[in-house]
Amino acid sequence: MSDILKRADGRFESCNEHGEPNVETSLKHSIDQMVINWHVNETCNYRCVYCYTKWERPPSVRDVIRQPENTANLLRSLWAFFDPANLKNPLKDTLTWRRVRLNFAGGEPLLCRADLIRAVELAAQIGFDVSIITNGSRLDSETMSALAPHLDWLGVSLDAADMRTNKAIGREDRRSRQLDPEALRDSVATARSNNPDLKLKINTVVSSQNHEADLTRVIARLSPHKWKILRALPMTTTAGMVTDEQFRAFVHRHRSLTDTIRVEDNADMLKSYLMIEPKGRFFQNHNDTLKEGYRYSRPILDVGPGAALESAGFSAFGFANRYR
Ligand code: SF4
Repeated sequence: MSDILKRADGRFESCNEHGEPNVETSLKHSIDQMVINWHVNETCNYRCVYCYTKWERPPSVRDVIRQPENTANLLRSLWAFFDPANLKNPLKDTLTWRRVRLNFAGGEPLLCRADLIRAVELAAQIGFDVSIITNGSRLDSETMSALAPHLDWLGVSLDAADMRTNKAIGREDRRSRQLDPEALRDSVATARSNNPDLKLKINTVVSSQNHEADLTRVIARLSPHKWKILRALPMTTTAGMVTDEQFRAFVHRHRSLTDTIRVEDNADMLKSYLMIEPKGRFFQNHNDTLKEGYRYSRPILDVGPGAALESAGFSAFGFANRYR
């Protein structure tokens, strides 16, 4: 049994039930990249059955991304805290990293296109590696040309290539428009012509609607650097869940793409990334159990990233352990 204590100097320490520091505390773990997921909005033009991007929030508070000055303040404070050169970061006792990537997610982040482009530009300028994850519905060539030069990764979610499955999942807008993989190929080509170093990642959530699909051909044609296969899990809804066997069968069916595939439970993601919701609070799931709903920090803009992490009961030691 161990606890996390905050020391007088503000650093975090793990100790046993006698209050003695645990031996593991002194063992630093190194990772290449710290990833921060900022879910800039909750609004989306799709309605995926398994969607877990729903946050409790006071309606009177506007999304930070809609406020340019607050966006700039948030980005600068995050960088000051997570800058690999900031040796005062309390996480440094247990974890070191060389780079920090800010991933802009949603909702659908491109529904606030102008604000997103401004934030992406500023984040890259400040020093973050930058990525976005989008449902691909708003990736026109003008948007791609504006975003691509500042991105390290373009992430697109794609669960099915046929209209019936996409409809069953809820991956279409109010006018029944769906992501066309061929149109996505064109958008990716535009992005790559603006930034030859840009890496493409496709995210696929395996759910009860698509677990029998074969996406080998469509993924091969998109030629992503990474194809992340995730699993619908009960974060804020139990809809779309699949059995272990169905999930394994989906991964096995696509074994010809093994070099590109990364299999990740959503639970892994929730435990391994720092996550910020649209109002600027860190959030995480409840301990290791998949209870419904999230646990929130105080607003980062009010108290700063360090105090916000602390108010969320964030454990540096536990966080470092997730990378072990
Ligand atoms: S595209 Fe993403 S944010 Fe939109 S409904 Fe689907 S899972 Fe949710």
